Amino acid sequence: MSAVIPLIPAQGCEAAPVLRERGQREVFCGLTGIVWLHRKIQDAFFLVVGSRTCAHLMQSAAGVMIFAEPRFATAIIDERDLAGLADANEELDRVVRRLLERRPDIKMLFLVGSCPSEVIKLDLSRAAERLSREFLPKVRVLNYSGSGIETTFTQGEDACLAALVPQLPPSAADAATSLMIVGCLPDIVEDQFARHLRAIGIERVSFFPPRSSRELPAVGPNTRYLLAQPFLNDTARALDERGARRIAAPFPFGVEGTTEWLRAAALTFGIADEAFDRATLPSRERAQKALASRRELLEGRSVFFFPDSQLELPLARFLSRELGMRLAEVGTPYLHRDHLRQELAWLPEGTVLSEGQDVDKQLDRCRAQVPDIVVCGLGLANPLEAEGITTKWAIELVFSPVHGYEQSADLAELFARPLRRKAKLTQELACS
Ligand code: SF4
Repeated sequence: MSAVIPLIPAQGCEAAPVLRERGQREVFCGLTGIVWLHRKIQDAFFLVVGSRTCAHLMQSAAGVMIFAEPRFATAIIDERDLAGLADANEELDRVVRRLLERRPDIKMLFLVGSCPSEVIKLDLSRAAERLSREFLPKVRVLNYSGSGIETTFTQGEDACLAALVPQLPPSAADAATSLMIVGCLPDIVEDQFARHLRAIGIERVSFFPPRSSRELPAVGPNTRYLLAQPFLNDTARALDERGARRIAAPFPFGVEGTTEWLRAAALTFGIADEAFDRATLPSRERAQKALASRRELLEGRSVFFFPDSQLELPLARFLSRELGMRLAEVGTPYLHRDHLRQELAWLPEGTVLSEGQDVDKQLDRCRAQVPDIVVCGLGLANPLEAEGITTKWAIELVFSPVHGYEQSADLAELFARPLRRKAKLTQELACS
């Protein structure tokens, strides 16, 4: 059984040059990932060790949860000198003790590092070890960094999952080969994928992260894993170190991406083509039909991606191949060539690719192209809109359910809606 599917021969942008930008960045930090991570692992708590700025970001990014006991908070570490560090550690321990006494439902606690210098001086991995010893077996305490110096906003998830991998139980040496789907997915999407994989004939499937910290999936040399998100480089490395093997595949966005993602798993598990087609054809056809009306609006329109979420390449591939959009430029914060090989091969030859950010230069290139729609961070969206350029917030593409067949039309709609709104506004202005 092989974990590697035959890749499409070198074509598209697989060997294309990439413009490397290393200038000013305009992106959210990795703390943002807490917004979707806390919804996924339902008995986990995220304690940001940070400043008032971090607390403010969490409040505004996630909103205040009114109906549920919140599952994240910020321990504010104020300006301190080195002599004050012992106090800071004691204070952190005190905050954690108080939290865990008050909230016995918390089974896993993440101490999330941030970038203020007084936090960087704290050794959060030692704090996590110390507190883990104190609270085991009731609560596991782990740590990772969401600091804006080290991470862009989706890398917070990568750092969190990479910290969780060493906690996964080892799979039995004689266990049958199993499939692990890696990356936070909304529950509804996870259920759909589980149904598709069962229908194809793959029975032993786990999802990582799980919905409960008590259901951590086993991992070992008999684990094959499929990445559901393109930004999980450290997590993939940590899984490889545990003996698991990645199944090379594109990402499950759009009909084509979802089909080839599922097919890569089917090939790995020796499922015959006919069985695969029988199981997936009805969903493929339904999704293609739903895409048709969005294609009418999007075909021939141009899109410019600023580097933000690392979802840019798979999304650009979907927009270009399934909806006929033109790619003005596709920027990504990091380009992991190995994980994105299939996506690169599928991009039209000559696509301008850029890695990293130099915001002023990218804004100049963007303005020069006058694209129909720009995918960018919140900080750039307002000024571009003020210039009459239609924008789509990259963060919305991470928050919304966009994977799989059932969400393909919704994903296309996220791009179609702003263009429709713009057309309506232009029409209204013309009539007034
Ligand atoms: Fe700002 Fe850094 Fe805190 Fe993120 S971690 S909110 S970038 S201070």
